Amino acid sequence: MALIESAFSVMSEKPLAVPGTIDNAELIRYLRAKIDQLLVVMGSQPLRPEELDDATLIALDPIGIIAESFGQVIAHLYATNNRLDIARNEIRTILDTLGAAVVVLDLEDRVEDCNRRALDWFFDGGERAQVIGHPAAEVCTCAAALGEVRSSADGSSHSTNIHGRDVQVVASKICDEAGQHAQTVMLFTDIGEQKTIERHLQLYAEVFSHIGEGILITDADNRIIEINDAVTRITGYARDELIGADPGKLKSGLHKPAFYAGMWRTLRAQGHWQGEVFDRTRDGRVVPLLQTISEVRNADDKLTHRIAVMADISSMKEAQTRLDFLAHHDVLTALPNRLLFNDRLHHAIERAQRDKSALALLFIDLDRFKNINDSLGHHVGDLLLIEAARRIKSLARRADTVARFGGDEFVVLMESGASHESAAHLAEKLVVAFKQPFTVTGTELHIGCSIGITLYPDDGTDAVSLLKNADAAMYRAKESGRDGHYRYTAELSAATNSKLELDNALRSAVRDGGFELHYQPIVDIKRGEVIACEALLRWPQAPAGASTPDLFVPVAEETRLIVPLGHWVVREALTRFQAWQAEGLTLDYISVNISAVQMAQPDFPDSIISLLLESGVAGHHLQIEITENVLMGNIDLCSWVLTQLREHGIRTAIDDFGTGYSSLSYLKRLPIDNLKIDRSFVRDIPGDPNDCAIAAAVVSLARTLGMDTIAEGIETLEQQNYLARIGCDKVQGYLHSRPLPAADFLTFVRQAHPFRTGDST
Ligand code: C2E
Ligand code: MG
Ligand code: MG
Repeated sequence: MALIESAFSVMSEKPLAVPGTIDNAELIRYLRAKIDQLLVVMGSQPLRPEELDDATLIALDPIGIIAESFGQVIAHLYATNNRLDIARNEIRTILDTLGAAVVVLDLEDRVEDCNRRALDWFFDGGERAQVIGHPAAEVCTCAAALGEVRSSADGSSHSTNIHGRDVQVVASKICDEAGQHAQTVMLFTDIGEQKTIERHLQLYAEVFSHIGEGILITDADNRIIEINDAVTRITGYARDELIGADPGKLKSGLHKPAFYAGMWRTLRAQGHWQGEVFDRTRDGRVVPLLQTISEVRNADDKLTHRIAVMADISSMKEAQTRLDFLAHHDVLTALPNRLLFNDRLHHAIERAQRDKSALALLFIDLDRFKNINDSLGHHVGDLLLIEAARRIKSLARRADTVARFGGDEFVVLMESGASHESAAHLAEKLVVAFKQPFTVTGTELHIGCSIGITLYPDDGTDAVSLLKNADAAMYRAKESGRDGHYRYTAELSAATNSKLELDNALRSAVRDGGFELHYQPIVDIKRGEVIACEALLRWPQAPAGASTPDLFVPVAEETRLIVPLGHWVVREALTRFQAWQAEGLTLDYISVNISAVQMAQPDFPDSIISLLLESGVAGHHLQIEITENVLMGNIDLCSWVLTQLREHGIRTAIDDFGTGYSSLSYLKRLPIDNLKIDRSFVRDIPGDPNDCAIAAAVVSLARTLGMDTIAEGIETLEQQNYLARIGCDKVQGYLHSRPLPAADFLTFVRQAHPFRTGDST
């Protein structure tokens, strides 16, 4: 009785009593009364882990202890029974309901007795009658193992594996009346489940010590009782420096008391808190941690522990800072981007409003940047932008904000002391600085800039209008000849269209046929005849700021509207040529300008050829003009296109020759008929010896390559005479005629214009 009590008392951690003499009847009564409870303890679910904390659970071996006690009880029972031979069947019935197996062997390993569970586990599920009295070796599936247990019986408990089953074993010797050892009672308890729990606990322990996050456990008094290795790694404190300490030891001092008060409030109210905490490591560094603190409560809802899980988020924070930088800066130049600039502008406006001071905005756009990108590639373009950014930054004052808005657009915000004069002064310095060539990958590049200026509050009181007006002023600067700056005026606003409006206007004009072609004669000065003409786009209803193709063609290219527009140009030019032919005007060819975007269309050659066939004009009457930059931008593509066009007799001219970056050796490989010497080289001849030399070189090279040259932009007779002398006898320019509407062009040619040649003057 006392023994059984002791077995149960294990659960309340009382020491075990040593077995005394047992009264059989009393025991049976007791077993009857307690059988349910006993089965809970020894049966399939002996443990309810939630009732025990982990540490106690690991330390305890309740099944082992109970089995040991109970095994001794049963051994006693048998000993007494042997003597009194009573109630054997009743005991059997009780034993059969046990979750444990009981086997009694004599000294020769003959089976004296066993219960139901033992029959199932060790005797193949047989019946007791087939087993009792037989040698174990004959009837038992694991006789050797049982024999071994029997021979080492000493009444203590140990665990082993029998027949694939993890069991706790107690084997006790029973003596006969003469006091001689006669039998051995063995009790086997299945501990498979306990083993599983142990394995899980082992696993948890492994996870605890190896997990990347720090785990810190405090008791109810907020003293640290356990940490894992990660805490040491994160904080730099050794284990024994933290155990017993208050977690406040890790405080960085960066948080206000209110922060911790809030944390405790949430923790008490919700049992859980999560947030970012800056702690201080042992060597004084501040480390950002993502912390989750949870309360642990027992069955009586009493706080027993708190568990803090901490993740070091330093690298995440760094990535965040980097991301933040990227979100607000231009990657290429590291200048603030549009987003950051807008933010600064908003703040600057607020300050200026308050202080009644002025601000100035400079909107800077690089001239001809696209040429460089197209011809020398984006890599060179990028390097040039970096250099340009550096140049702008070096001229701006330290307090000014210089930003890149994307593409080749930069903006400077001048705050303190901003005035029209200071803005114009900076703009002037920038224009002069940009006149100096840039050296990129060993090449000298010439690129100018156009600048639009607005002032707060005169030219706008909010960020959007200040920027929009500065953009408009910049366009005006471009319109009036590039390489300059322009202060915004109210009139400009009335006439100005933003890019978006321009895009819409272009779209409508393409749809509604709002474009015209003008034709400029190409004259052979030797023959004194108009031999051909160039078709040039005109937009009669163009919004202000987009009056010439130089201004609207780039926008049409950007929005790809140039594709339908360019298609229309070719069709219109061919239709006109056909009509003139019908009226008896025979020119060698009509020349049309083709943009890079059109060239890149896979169906470009086909579309030109079908327009040609549709018009009935012979191929050699059509010439396309492409710039060197388009050509060099994609030499293989151009070579493919030009060859296809050439198969239909179509001619090719290189436009604005000399302004780009072509290599003559490439030109040699392509079917090119004409080089058009750019106006910029013609303008200053014969006065400028450099330009004279360039023009002469182009003419002689062209001749060597079997091409003709046409000089563009001839305005004076002197220019024409010089060109004739160096062997260029085809010219185009105001000297002969401006580009004319179709009807005027026809009249012009018909007048049999008495062209004066160089020789006749
Ligand atoms: P471009 O092809 O080099 O055309 C020659 C430009 O020089 C024309 O300007 C013409 O009016 C101008 N010009 C001719 N002779 C003289 C002169 O003696 N003095 C001066 N100062 N200028 C002269 P425009 O018509 O404004 O065209 C400008 C550019 O726009 C063209 O340069 C061409 O690149 C482009 N463009 C014109 N029409 C088209 C078109 O249908 N498609 C494409 N893609 N581009 C076009
Ligand atoms: Mg042209
Ligand atoms: Mg040209």
